Amino acid sequence: MFDPAAGAAGTTLDMECRCCGAREVELFLDLGAQPHCNRLVRRDLAPGTEPHYPLRVGFCRQCTLVQIDHTIPKESMFSDYPYVSGTTRTLTEHFRETSARLAGLYDLGPKDLVVDIGSNDGSWLAQYAPFGARVLGVEAAANVAPLALARGVPTWNRFFNEDCARDILAEHGPARLVTAAGVFFHLEELHSVVRGIDALIGDTGVFVVQAIYLGGMLENTAFDQIYHEHLCYYTLRSITALFARHGLEVFAASVVPIHGGSLEVHVARRGRQPVQPSVAALAAEETAHGFGELATYRAFAANVAALHAELMRVLRDYQARGRSVWAYGAPAKGATLLNSFGIGPALVQKAVEKNPMKVGLAIPGARIPIDEEDGARPEAYLVLAWNFLDEFLRKEQPFLSAGGEFIVPVPKVEVIGAAGASK
Ligand SMILES: [Zn+2]
Repeated sequence: MFDPAAGAAGTTLDMECRCCGAREVELFLDLGAQPHCNRLVRRDLAPGTEPHYPLRVGFCRQCTLVQIDHTIPKESMFSDYPYVSGTTRTLTEHFRETSARLAGLYDLGPKDLVVDIGSNDGSWLAQYAPFGARVLGVEAAANVAPLALARGVPTWNRFFNEDCARDILAEHGPARLVTAAGVFFHLEELHSVVRGIDALIGDTGVFVVQAIYLGGMLENTAFDQIYHEHLCYYTLRSITALFARHGLEVFAASVVPIHGGSLEVHVARRGRQPVQPSVAALAAEETAHGFGELATYRAFAANVAALHAELMRVLRDYQARGRSVWAYGAPAKGATLLNSFGIGPALVQKAVEKNPMKVGLAIPGARIPIDEEDGARPEAYLVLAWNFLDEFLRKEQPFLSAGGEFIVPVPKVEVIGAAGASK
């Protein structure tokens, strides 16, 4: 459970910063011991027996990187993975838009190689087909990589690191474009991965990374983006410091709307690309918002405490009136929210999902069972995947018109009915 007092106590975490190595990582948010959020459990597993690990978040006074201190080994987190990119329409459209934009920017043609790190089911790489570029995915999950192969996207089932990059170079030559979407904060072998990227892009290639933007998390009080898979939470400033250690330079930066706000940076070897005004503009914005100061993160932790109190008030009110609440989907971030706030089946009776890899299991820790959508309806849904709220609202108009409600936990607690938000 979330401990509002722990983060304010002025504790230095017992760790070296994942980027700069300084032992000056200050705890500001302690979400308590939690199970691995993507390791769904069997419903008959004895209560409390899934392994729990500390989920503590700190801020490095030296390089400003925000990070968790406890690492669950990557083999245990990613070798078998229940998340499939292609199941979300919003994400598929996002990949289509991004690939067309990058193909135009970097003039991709048939001779060019595009490598995607953490390529999942190949949803993104498949979008490069119209431009004729050669593509290669690198995906660690043995259960997901075959889905990419099945759709004709060449994919290596392994972890990307410096060794992997050397093997790609030997077999396919240098890459014109290397991409990583939604994986860059996962990396246990952070420096090996960046060295691998440097080797792969050489003097002429470009690396484009999209990662959840810490600035967006702060703005949205999106503490539920924090889970063991996400080791690092980047601002432009902290990611720039990481690349600089390896002779790489951020030459373009922007914030894109996917996942409630993602940072997109374009990186090349230092001096190889003109640095665009977008970099200084975003850096100035970050300074103005205090993203380089510990006090900003302490304020964020206070916002999480306020959100906690408000959401519990709303859910207990439903419970007191005997009204059913189900979770709309069972995303990874939902486990963080439920386990941080101690929400179990007494408040949220079940979750409904369309991902068949999740149906029949239970959310770890909270032990909320996950069922298939079968047409039955609760009186309200708790929208754990609040970053897709607009898509859900469009789809569920009939449910709302018939008196159903959506409880939105983040960025602020809201109850949405047919007439819009009421709280
Ligand atoms: Zn640091």
